[in-house]
Formats: sequence, C-alpha cells, structure tokens
Amino acid sequence: MVRTVDLDAAILSKIDRDRQEHTRVIGRYYPSVIGNCKRKTYYTYILDDRTNDDLKRIFSVGEALHDFVARALKEDPKIKHCESEVPISIYIPECDFTISGRIDNIVTDENGEERIIEVKSTGQKVEFLKEPKPENVEQLNIYLVARQIQHGDVFYVEKNTLKTAQFPVERDRELFLSKTIKDYAVLDECLREGKLPAPEGKIYKEMAWQCQRCEYKKECEEDING
Ligand code: SF4
Repeated sequence: MVRTVDLDAAILSKIDRDRQEHTRVIGRYYPSVIGNCKRKTYYTYILDDRTNDDLKRIFSVGEALHDFVARALKEDPKIKHCESEVPISIYIPECDFTISGRIDNIVTDENGEERIIEVKSTGQKVEFLKEPKPENVEQLNIYLVARQIQHGDVFYVEKNTLKTAQFPVERDRELFLSKTIKDYAVLDECLREGKLPAPEGKIYKEMAWQCQRCEYKKECEEDING
C-alpha cells in the first residue's frame, strides 16, 4: 500500500512542536512538578529531554482529553462562564523565583461563584479512587492561592470511559507557605549552586513508583555510586 499521508510522523512532529513551548529555565518552575522527585526534576533542567515517543503520545492524549473537558464545561448551560488555560505567575521575592503555569479551567457558576477545575486523566477505574493524590491537591492549591479563589476540584477522568471522580479542595495558604515554597526553594538552590538534590524516589516509600518510570535512572545510579 502506498502511504500518501504519514499520520504517525505528523502526530509526532505536532507533539514535538507543542513540547518546544515548555522550555525550562532556572528560576521559573511549573506547578506540575510539585510532588516529583526533586532529583528527577533537577535532571530535566540540566540534561537533555528523555521523553520517548510513547510517553509523548500518552501526554498528548491527556492534553486532548483536557481540551474535550474544557469544551464540555463551556457548553454546559449551568456554567455561566468558563475560562481555560489561564496563565498564572507567582513571584516569590524572598527566594527570587517564579512559579508559573496554566490553570486548566476556572468556572463561574449560576450564583457567580468561581471554582478551579483541575483535570487529571487516568487509566485507573475512577470508582475505585478514594481520595485525590496529595501532589494533585498541592498543584491545585497553587492555582487557588495565585487567583485567591477559595474552592476547586480535582477531577480524575477515566481515559477509556470518560467517567469522572470529583474531589473538592479548599484553598490552604499554610500548605503553600510551609511546604510548597520550601520544596521549590530546595530545587532552586540545587539548580543555582549545581548541587544534586536527594534521590527522593529512593528514600521515600510513597515516591518509589517514580523510579520505575524515571528516564534518568542511569545517571541517578551513577551519582549515587560515585
Ligand atoms: S531514579 Fe528515582 S530517585 Fe533517581 S532521579 Fe529518578 S525518580 Fe529520583
């Protein structure tokens, strides 16, 4: 068969173009890295991008799902207004870095109340989810603090069925001040001073899963073994 259109190549090339918009600069940190092993995040700043084609495709499916959810929210007659991909930027003067990213959706309901809707696509069955992941709550909390909005929800959307699970989250300024900023400050200090962060995936049991799919495993092992 003569292939007149190489859709596979076109998809990968589109993914690569989209990814180029996410360049990493020391002093500017994404909310989505919160909860990641800091050593892994450190490597993503100083080493080449290791995201393989399969992983890129998975990310892009997630993004396509986000677009679909945003359209569904915009077309919902019970929602007065929905703004998607809303940029935020929080400069932390005492540390001289910026947390910068995009909010999935800010919706305004019929009563004029605003909520932030953070969407996470998942391969898991949503009916079995009992609570949101702490890192997803912390990420949403960054947006709540940035926009001074009191309420939000983490929504998990099952990729195969589009079923959802909703977990309401309240703005928690204390969490932001006592943990979030400190975590970014550790990463920032390591990057500016060229110090390797602790291998958190190997230290904390609840983060061990990150090592299984870490693209920087080899460097991490080499750095541990000297
Ligand atoms: S292998 Fe584990 S500990 Fe090392 S950088 Fe990757 S996630 Fe972190």
